[in-house]
Amino acid sequence: MKQFQHFINGTYCESTSGKTFDNVAPATGSVIGQVHEAGREEVDAAVTAARAALSSEWGELGVDQRCELLYRVADGINNRFNEFLEAECADTGKPYSLASQIDIPRGAANFKIFADTIRNSVNKSFQTATPDGQGAINYAIHVPKGVIAVVCPWNLPLLLMTWKVGPALACGNSVVVKPSEETPATATLLGEVMNEAGIPKGVYNVVHGFGPQSAGAFLTEHSGVDAITFTGETRTGEAIMRAAADGVRDVSFELGGKNPGIVFADCDLAKAIEGSLRSVFANCGQVCLGTERMYVQRPIFDEFVSRLKDGAEALRLGRPEDPATNLGPLVSETHRQKVLSYFRLAVDEGATVVCGGGVPDMEDDLSAGSWVQPTIWTGLGDDARVVREEIFGPCCHVRAFDDEDEVVALANDTEYGLAAAVWTENVSRAHRVAARLEAGVTWVNSWFLRDLRTPFGGMKQSGIGREGGEYSLEFYTETKNICVKL
Ligand code: NAD
Repeated sequence: MKQFQHFINGTYCESTSGKTFDNVAPATGSVIGQVHEAGREEVDAAVTAARAALSSEWGELGVDQRCELLYRVADGINNRFNEFLEAECADTGKPYSLASQIDIPRGAANFKIFADTIRNSVNKSFQTATPDGQGAINYAIHVPKGVIAVVCPWNLPLLLMTWKVGPALACGNSVVVKPSEETPATATLLGEVMNEAGIPKGVYNVVHGFGPQSAGAFLTEHSGVDAITFTGETRTGEAIMRAAADGVRDVSFELGGKNPGIVFADCDLAKAIEGSLRSVFANCGQVCLGTERMYVQRPIFDEFVSRLKDGAEALRLGRPEDPATNLGPLVSETHRQKVLSYFRLAVDEGATVVCGGGVPDMEDDLSAGSWVQPTIWTGLGDDARVVREEIFGPCCHVRAFDDEDEVVALANDTEYGLAAAVWTENVSRAHRVAARLEAGVTWVNSWFLRDLRTPFGGMKQSGIGREGGEYSLEFYTETKNICVKL
């Protein structure tokens, strides 16, 4: 049985408690490994190693040397592409066709992109007039923040983890990563790549376990951690923020969403259908940026719903490694029970089930996996829980609207503010509506088109701070001003 151990100070190790838990493949429900659960002792060892690394050779490296090492890490992932792909797909059940295009290549690219960002970053300077006429020069420099705790979710394990580890290391910090208990594999494997690339010991550490009263809480409560970057549920973010209050540690949060997709009658309907099928169903709906609320202008409502239904019913559920598969299972049986409870709730709340709404018949060993049908509803009120709460499954509610003001109000009527998609061929309307939407990211006539230099993050309860390109540097460094009197 495969063992997923902690990676501390460049070495794999077990927990002293000997505690382990099962790693289950969601496609088949079978146990594929044992994950070692960290106690306070292992977390403390990882934070101590990370602290020591800051004053070792890692702290002495110049930006170019550091960036060269990060390029080697990216190459190391790409050299072992298939291993990462198999590990990620076994943990999540996601199709190879998806992970080979997004998770693994983007996971590797994060190291190069942030190395390039830090290499090309500029420091501001200010000339200051003084009464003696001599003046002063102020200039700002960036220094590493220190030991960064990186707490990750299960939906895009490698990609979202390296999205944080890449900039953290590029800026000269050290990290302790707590991957999701559901998806321990790629963070563990990355330890080998770090060693092969020559990243000094203690710079990259991994501790496994759960959240409360386990590795997640022990890490975020640890006084040796200087800042915490977290992606996951809003409620977890609240708990981590409480922990971060002790010692006034900085946080960067990417949290939940209940994202709207807005389709105007003047859109290119084929593009809107294709994009909405992706935004609703990609990764089995387990994408924080995914669309769970569709608003469609009345003249095209019926046609839109009918074509979205056709697209949903054409999705191919199947084995991750089958090239024809484009819809995987949910990440776990626990998550499936949550999603199925919303499927039942939708009916109780009076929804019309356009398609799906249940569990598909899967053959052979897949029948024990965490599968659900792609699901579309209409007919719910704006206060229905299914329309207001994040479900994180392959499902959406579609509602008709009449005019722009109405749909902007509907889209913004949520505690979340992560992402939105707007479909229209009217360029003025596109800009006008995008500016009025309360969302950290708005796509017009596209979805998940990411330029990694752009600011990424959520408004309202969807997050704190922005990461991406130079915006990441604001979190992963301390900016110091130096004032020189001439
Ligand atoms: P989660 O909040 O349950 O868990 C995320 C991580 O936090 C896990 O590693 C978990 O062990 C840890 N954790 C849980 N409780 C903790 C605690 N009290 N202290 C410290 N750590 C704790 O989230 P999830 O179910 O893994 O991921 C799905 C959620 O993530 C969804 O809400 C989704 O919208 C969100 N998400 C957001 C983004 C974004 O960029 N905004 C991206 C991906 C996922």
